[in-house]
Amino acid sequence: MQQETMFGHPKGLFVLFFTEMWERFSFYGMRAILVLYLTALTTDEINPGLGWTSTEALALYGWYGMFVYFMGIFGGAIADKWLGQKKAVIVGGVLIILGQFALTIHNMTMFYAGLVLLVCGVGLLKPNISTMVGGLYPKGDGRRDAGFTLFYIGINIGALAAPLLVGYFGEQVNWHLGFSLAGFGMIVGQIVFVFGGKHLKDVGNLLKHSETEAHLATQPLTKIEKDRVIVLLLSFLIVIVFWAAYEQAGGLMSLYARDSVDRMVWGFEVPTSWFQSLHAFYVVLIGVTVAGLWLKWGNMGKESSAIFKMAVGMIIMSISFLALMGALYDASINVLGKAPIYWLLFSYLLHVIAELSISPVALSFITKLAPTKYASLMMGAYFAIVGIGNKAAGLLGEAAQKAGEMAIFAIIAIACLLVGILLFFLVKKLKALTHGAEEITMV
Ligand code: GLN
Repeated sequence: MQQETMFGHPKGLFVLFFTEMWERFSFYGMRAILVLYLTALTTDEINPGLGWTSTEALALYGWYGMFVYFMGIFGGAIADKWLGQKKAVIVGGVLIILGQFALTIHNMTMFYAGLVLLVCGVGLLKPNISTMVGGLYPKGDGRRDAGFTLFYIGINIGALAAPLLVGYFGEQVNWHLGFSLAGFGMIVGQIVFVFGGKHLKDVGNLLKHSETEAHLATQPLTKIEKDRVIVLLLSFLIVIVFWAAYEQAGGLMSLYARDSVDRMVWGFEVPTSWFQSLHAFYVVLIGVTVAGLWLKWGNMGKESSAIFKMAVGMIIMSISFLALMGALYDASINVLGKAPIYWLLFSYLLHVIAELSISPVALSFITKLAPTKYASLMMGAYFAIVGIGNKAAGLLGEAAQKAGEMAIFAIIAIACLLVGILLFFLVKKLKALTHGAEEITMV
């Protein structure tokens, strides 16, 4: 497969980069205004919302966050069996556009229909576009991890811009204008994908084009393939803990930023909602650096398997929650009950260093390990786990209302630490079970 390249990567990577950037713009834009729209008063003359209570709104937000990712498992299965990843992305994109525009209509039936369309659309698009990135690189191609890092940066450019733009227009002007902007974002993504199709000819097609492939598709898994699936499933379990911790950002950490952090910087009070963009900002800022550091580390002959990176990520995550506990302590001894802002900035930075050692690494790892005929399903299963992690995050947030933030932060720090340590002990064993799937072929 001879591919045209750009900056040393197949051109198709940039098609996927921009498509996913716009899809995430649409996703995070909508998410940034969802709870605000739900809780805005129906009697508001300028920008009326649905008048729900905060508890109701947060509950819906939690369920939406779970299903939108959980659906990935079906999206993946559908791509493997019927559509192939490319068509699944297109159908997913259309559903997302319809969903966003359904939300622009002020009517409860349309509102719920919009959410269902979004859940189905993201479920079809998100895992399959991620699998397609892996499909651009032949087995053993050393550029694959870097490709995923770039893709991940694209995701976060969309995630960074969305709350600012959709958030601004949705909140200040009209909610439905916000949802329309999110819909237009996805339209742009869809256009990029369709017009860039010429760079994706050999990627994401249904595996049944030739007789040999049809034969492969019906063969049972070999022992090696089964071992690799086991490693993947084990790493997925670990990933639940990571996302449950990480997604505190939207809930607990945001309340904490509002109530317990002194947000005054040079006479300007940093709005709480800005913290929503902080993760994405850091990813764009340090994504390349963190990936580069890992590459250097590996080139020095040190252990740098995906499992090892995930172990390090979990321990860094644990430290980030220790920092938050430090902040809570600081707030408790401060007369105004507020902690300095640097604790939070530092904790978010650690979150992102951990994220970059886990999330794009996991995506790349899945495309190296999954048997071809289950490539999309395994990616979908990963996102289903992300969905469960999201829901667990919400439950932890609720628990903190009773048990207190300190207790919950401590539990999260300990859980991440234990998982990290466990992974360290398992690195060698799990690596053996991958049967050299991470080996790079020198050309
Ligand atoms: N922020 C990344 C994205 O939106 C990771 C999401 C996830 O896997 N939870 O794709």
